[in-house]
Amino acid sequence: MLPLALTGVRIWDGCSSETTRERLTIRIHGDRIAGVGTAPELAQEAHRVELDGAVVLPGLIDAHVHLTLDPSIRSPDEQLVVPSDEVVRAMEVRALRMVRAGVTTARDLGGGRWLEFNLRDRILSGEIPGPRLLCAGQPVTTPTGHCHFWGGGAGSEEEIRQVVRRQIDRGTDWVKVMASGGVMTRESRASDAQFDAVSMGIVLEEANRGGRPVAAHCHATSAIRIASQAGVRTVEHCSWSSPEGFGTALDREVLRDMARRELWISATVNPGWGRRYDEQGRPTPFVHRMRACFEAARQECVPLIASTDAGIPGVEHDALPEALPVFAGYAGFEPVEALRAATSESANALGLGKDTGRVEVGFRADLLAVGGDPVMDLSALRDVRCVVAAGQKALETPSAENSGRL
Ligand SMILES: [Zn+2]
Repeated sequence: MLPLALTGVRIWDGCSSETTRERLTIRIHGDRIAGVGTAPELAQEAHRVELDGAVVLPGLIDAHVHLTLDPSIRSPDEQLVVPSDEVVRAMEVRALRMVRAGVTTARDLGGGRWLEFNLRDRILSGEIPGPRLLCAGQPVTTPTGHCHFWGGGAGSEEEIRQVVRRQIDRGTDWVKVMASGGVMTRESRASDAQFDAVSMGIVLEEANRGGRPVAAHCHATSAIRIASQAGVRTVEHCSWSSPEGFGTALDREVLRDMARRELWISATVNPGWGRRYDEQGRPTPFVHRMRACFEAARQECVPLIASTDAGIPGVEHDALPEALPVFAGYAGFEPVEALRAATSESANALGLGKDTGRVEVGFRADLLAVGGDPVMDLSALRDVRCVVAAGQKALETPSAENSGRL
């Protein structure tokens, strides 16, 4: 197949503090970035896409989604009765929408039927368009704990081992554990830890034996502490919850320990967080508390990565570009910091830091071209001109079309 050449582009490479001024060419061969620069040869003998000053950045990474969940369904019971063939068709549409919005990698953190594993494999083989997926399958939980209806309930040491091994046998990329209760499961409480240190240690031992990193769903502060000390790689939500609510039990000692262990907080800030203001437009106490938590994480040098928990009620699968400015507002991020949290830093957390998340020769050609400079203004992410995922064009707006051989 002819190489692809994106011409006339400015580049934000995933790390640096600004976008290049000059117009460059990115040459793509197979699924890799083969060359970047001004040399005319980079555009020769290639399918050319003239992007006329658009800014190319690494494709975005959403570190926490649920492909099988329908965001328009409010109760878990109703999700569970959707027939599998219907879920599969809906997932194909969600994957397409994600990649067209510029999300070229996503980590799926739980479902009950492993349907997302098959979707992952079909995307990887090029059969259908979509983001590269990393999947976790059934999360380990307690018998009546958070999302027990997905089949990962475990009441003993042996059952914990069985649940983890079942995911590994199915071909999981990650192991997910529900370290605390959750908002969506009536029988559980977000402010309570679900596993003690011994049980959590068994989750990690079994996952490590299979060579899989662990992501822990954590609202309760006690759960954050237990999961971190057991050795998880990412702490999901990390909402420092007590019975008084999110952000009411921030613990700096735990944060300092997290920093020492070099793990990441996957913040799951969705666009709805941008509407938590009162009638006068003033931030609610929730906003103040969560801002303080993110600020504390930054002060203690625990890196944050972007994620949306897409699939939960009201959060669409392609929400990340819209969520990033909201996330930046909560985290006190400059636009470029939010962009790193959704590209290079997220790739590091997901174990893909040498493969994607940067515009650099040798990296996977996961690229997003937008109409403005997102380093100046994150709203530019909504003006998508072209998306390339694993070297394949996933979207090209008509104005960007200018193909042909030189
Ligand atoms: Zn989730």
